[in-house]
Amino acid sequence: MTAERTGGCLCGAVRFAARDVPGKCGVCHCEMCRRWTGSALIGVTVPTGSVTFSGDGLRVIQSSGWAERGFCGECGSGIYFRVTREGEWFGNTELPIGIFDDANGFEITNEIYIDHKPDSFSYEGMQGRRLLTRAECVEKFSALEGGGPED
Ligand SMILES: [Zn+2]
Ligand SMILES: [Zn+2]
Repeated sequence: MTAERTGGCLCGAVRFAARDVPGKCGVCHCEMCRRWTGSALIGVTVPTGSVTFSGDGLRVIQSSGWAERGFCGECGSGIYFRVTREGEWFGNTELPIGIFDDANGFEITNEIYIDHKPDSFSYEGMQGRRLLTRAECVEKFSALEGGGPED
């Protein structure tokens, strides 16, 4: 089941509205997401074409050879993660669950870079959720021309 959802940054300079939002989310434990969020990225994946941003705060950095991250230039909230290179994960936008106005109703169905998760915490989620190691993730990128073993 999908739904329409809205959200925004801490200060309100960036807002989003998304259609086709699933009731599931995924966790990334890679070092970049850990530093970017201060913990781990719990992201909700929506088709890039179904999310619109408003306000004048949105800034974007190319965070690696295959992805970019949007954030609020005023307050620093992370707004999205998006793969910019063709491949299995291209065409989607990951919205951090914490910036949804209502962050309830999502179930964790996968965790990636699971072998990089700090031993300080763990998440609960769907039984039998998909777990991918760093190597398994990098393989998805490295199969592409110019891919490399970066996070
Ligand atoms: Zn802001
Ligand atoms: Zn990550």
